[in-house]
Amino acid sequence: MDLLLFIETLPLSIISILLTKDYLQFDKASQYIINEYKRECTNKEAEIKNNSEILKKIMTDYVSMSRPKTDLNIDEKLIVDYIYTNNKYEELVPLIDILIKEIPPKNLYNLFFNIDNLKLEHKNKFQDSVLFDTLGDYMVGTNTITLYSNKKDVLSHEFLHASSSIIKNDIKFCGFNQYNGINAIFDGLNEGYTEILNRRYFASPKIRYTGCYKLCQYIEAMFDNKKDMEIAYFRNDICKVIDTFLKYGSKDEFVYINECLDKNMTMPDNKQDFTKNVRILYNMIRKNGEKEKIEKFKQLNEKNKISTKKLVRY
Ligand SMILES: [Zn+2]
Repeated sequence: MDLLLFIETLPLSIISILLTKDYLQFDKASQYIINEYKRECTNKEAEIKNNSEILKKIMTDYVSMSRPKTDLNIDEKLIVDYIYTNNKYEELVPLIDILIKEIPPKNLYNLFFNIDNLKLEHKNKFQDSVLFDTLGDYMVGTNTITLYSNKKDVLSHEFLHASSSIIKNDIKFCGFNQYNGINAIFDGLNEGYTEILNRRYFASPKIRYTGCYKLCQYIEAMFDNKKDMEIAYFRNDICKVIDTFLKYGSKDEFVYINECLDKNMTMPDNKQDFTKNVRILYNMIRKNGEKEKIEKFKQLNEKNKISTKKLVRY
């Protein structure tokens, strides 16, 4: 390349990266949820309100939520170069290699935004007594992955969180999850789906959040193309999931399934509850779904050892 051209191009590239970062910060989240949360936070009663009420409110008026902008409008090669150049951790390189193959980099703006000050710490379990049961975590606020285990699938799970998180107007977005400091919504959906991607992309040998993982497989099976749900996860685009779900089910069913997903985070996997939830989802798809979707659901039932015949509700 001509030296003069190179000097001209370089600062422009850097400027375009900086501008895009600013632009995204103010654009990406759903303004509706932010306003809703702000109202909730100033209200004293907010502390005793549960997630279901927030979910119900979101569902009443979710169509007015602003959607994420279409694309990160800079050259994909530049995004990829920027991510590799600013990554400080050798152990993340193979994970980045896979992620940029799986997801068009223009959708990876959270990773692009987080990578330069991402921190990765290895700790002994006993260094933090509160976290004895935790194998790893990712803190959106400090952009830090902390590992209490050397298992590769723990690192890749947390890396998925780091690649799908951003703070906007005091709301912490992580994949499908949104947290305002009081309520975390879509937590079960987020953890279950993170495990689906962990297994799919990084061949994670062990599934955590099993109940959520299995229910999320049914939700994903409602999408015409599963890539759309994967991309929605990295773009914090919960609207895409709601849109898809509402093609087959009701707003009440969406709220109910998300309550179940959230409960599943803390409670042991219960076959009876799981079957009850699958019954709701299966009957939705049976009544309103295309043939090929009904077939996908039947296959999932078989995998989960649930008799499709016994699920039918007339
Ligand atoms: Zn997690």
